[in-house]
Amino acid sequence: MNNLLDLKIEGATLIGREGRWAIAIQNGLITGIAPTFATAARQTLNADGKLVIPGLVDPHLHLDKALLLEAYPAKQGTFQEALKETFNLKRSFTIEDIQTRASRVLDSEIAFGTTAIRSHVEVDPILQLTSLNALLPLKQAYAERLTLQLAVFAQEGITNQPGTEALLREAMSLGGDVIGSAPYTDSDPEKNIQIIFDIAQDFDCDVDFHLDFLDDDAPLLLPVVVRETVRRGWQSRVCLGHMTRLAGLDPTELKAMAAMLADADISVLALPASDLYMMARKDTHNVRRGIAPIQQLADRGVNSAIATNNIQNLFTPFGDGDLLKICTLVAQILQLGTTASHEACLAMVTTKAAQAIGIRNRGIESGKAADLVILDAKSASEAIGAAPPSRTTIKNGRIVSQTVLQRHFF
Ligand SMILES: [Zn+2]
Repeated sequence: MNNLLDLKIEGATLIGREGRWAIAIQNGLITGIAPTFATAARQTLNADGKLVIPGLVDPHLHLDKALLLEAYPAKQGTFQEALKETFNLKRSFTIEDIQTRASRVLDSEIAFGTTAIRSHVEVDPILQLTSLNALLPLKQAYAERLTLQLAVFAQEGITNQPGTEALLREAMSLGGDVIGSAPYTDSDPEKNIQIIFDIAQDFDCDVDFHLDFLDDDAPLLLPVVVRETVRRGWQSRVCLGHMTRLAGLDPTELKAMAAMLADADISVLALPASDLYMMARKDTHNVRRGIAPIQQLADRGVNSAIATNNIQNLFTPFGDGDLLKICTLVAQILQLGTTASHEACLAMVTTKAAQAIGIRNRGIESGKAADLVILDAKSASEAIGAAPPSRTTIKNGRIVSQTVLQRHFF
């Protein structure tokens, strides 16, 4: 029985195909999609008409500052409080504390169907390498269930925090996968961007910025990042989170920015759970939504995706690590109601999100990774509309999690 499959999924509903399908899996890869397979398998799953999509990918998540509300519930609920008190809380982070909170989030994400995450890892003179030392062992411990990318991240600025650049370089040499920063927190944002690209070139790694986030009148930093991306040949290796300022551009300006992004092959992530909560706090009425117009960007050829960002901390006192619920939020905010737009939303938390963080082998096709999730839904619209709780998560062709909703009526 040389051809024995590792896993066979039968009765699957697939987006873009009529009828029910079987998926053959061997050695961690999808090896075929057909109405049925005669070949035997070590394990067979009957999807019973449920929707099978590529495993969810969360391309922007802060594990080290997740679940902080127990330690500090919001008293004012303002952006200033979030900045000040999160900064204070960071002083008390320990490796064990970060690992405990991060593990809870990772378990939750896996149960919801996530098979890959890019987590930001704060590196600065206060925390030094504590976050990295907490998350590197988790990356190994979870490797069979989840691909965890660690983005070494300067949250507090670089030029205004002496010693940060050396720490960032040390973190990269210790095992960071990606380098990034939040240039708007730096007194010299352009220099901050230059330093990040210098490190990226030295370590041959991808770049990840929190960019054009604050709703102030400062000039957009996007043209600077585009210029550096092209100058250094870093096309397809740069991912930008937030980009809320794009929501405030008129159609002509947005078109110009989209063309720059598409030409430089830069990905954009909407982080609606945080942005909707934090943005436009000075608006007294008709409060702006301030979510990156990712559907319009996608229509103009920009790789656009959706991510969680924060879970239950002062910047985002909500969330459970379920990307489908974030999709629901995006669809509501951006007023996406068609079947096609819901299918596009699902791509933004699967294949497009994977592409944004440099993972190319995702999709329901032969030869792609057998990272899949079975959802208790019949269509993309139902998956986004209801975020069904019952899910089966498959990583590298192995079932790693099953959640079954039980309801009792009396
Ligand atoms: Zn973030």
